[in-house]
Amino acid sequence: MTEVMSQTTTPPATGGPRKPGWELVKLPAPSHPRPKPIAENARVLAHYSITDRYRFLSLHAPGIAATALPGQFVMITLARSGESAPALPRPMAIYQRDPQQGTIEILYGVVGDGTRRLATFATGEDLLVVGPLGRPFEIADGTSVLLIGRGIGTCSLTTVAQDARARGIRTVAVTSGRTGRPSSEPTCTGNWAPNACTRSATTTPPAPPSPSTRG
Ligand SMILES: Cc1cc2nc3c(=O)[nH]c(=O)nc-3n(C[C@H](O)[C@H](O)[C@H](O)COP(=O)(O)OP(=O)(O)OC[C@H]3O[C@@H](n4cnc5c(N)ncnc54)[C@H](O)[C@@H]3O)c2cc1C
Repeated sequence: MTEVMSQTTTPPATGGPRKPGWELVKLPAPSHPRPKPIAENARVLAHYSITDRYRFLSLHAPGIAATALPGQFVMITLARSGESAPALPRPMAIYQRDPQQGTIEILYGVVGDGTRRLATFATGEDLLVVGPLGRPFEIADGTSVLLIGRGIGTCSLTTVAQDARARGIRTVAVTSGRTGRPSSEPTCTGNWAPNACTRSATTTPPAPPSPSTRG
């Protein structure tokens, strides 16, 4: 069993308003063993900007593509051969994988030193990639799926949508982004809508109140 913290509201013994609290939730044991992670020198097949901040990366990683399950991620080492920094690999969700072609695809935001370095890798270079990692999502037959994701985090759900849809499971995705405009922030709906989901929606959070309207 896996334990995760979940925020709850606990009714006080004396009545009155519910108080927020935290409790341990036990997830059921995975029904299948996780795929064994491997390390691969993955060739960069395509790598380009999709917006000012976000980039698309396609890698030839046949071993990882063959076994990755929905919701899993990889760790990417950004130091080139002979370099010692950055020492720590960076985690990235598998946005798409194609076991036949032996490819995995990643969408990432350039936010710091590591992702700035990742952005310098050109087509034809190799990246050391370890995966697949993380607990995959399990979806039972005969159910339907509601996927809720925000911004770049949505990319960890696209493989869930693909697999669920391929199995004939009704899949609805609700995504949100800072701007609601895919041209400035990818919410992955472009990929979900035609290939994966019966319906998808992009929600834009309301703008914060202007100083004149704040109470
Ligand atoms: C399991 C997992 C899967 C992930 N999948 C993806 C993915 O598919 N695509 C993706 O873009 N990212 C993903 N991330 C986040 C990604 O790993 C980080 O953005 C990345 O490691 C940042 O490394 P860096 O060296 O560029 O930034 P750092 O040097 O670590 O951080 C630089 C600055 O950026 C800030 N920062 C760091 N991460 C973020 C962020 N995500 N958003 C905004 N500010 C940030 C830090 O607070 C810091 O101020 C994932 C993370 C996890 C744990």
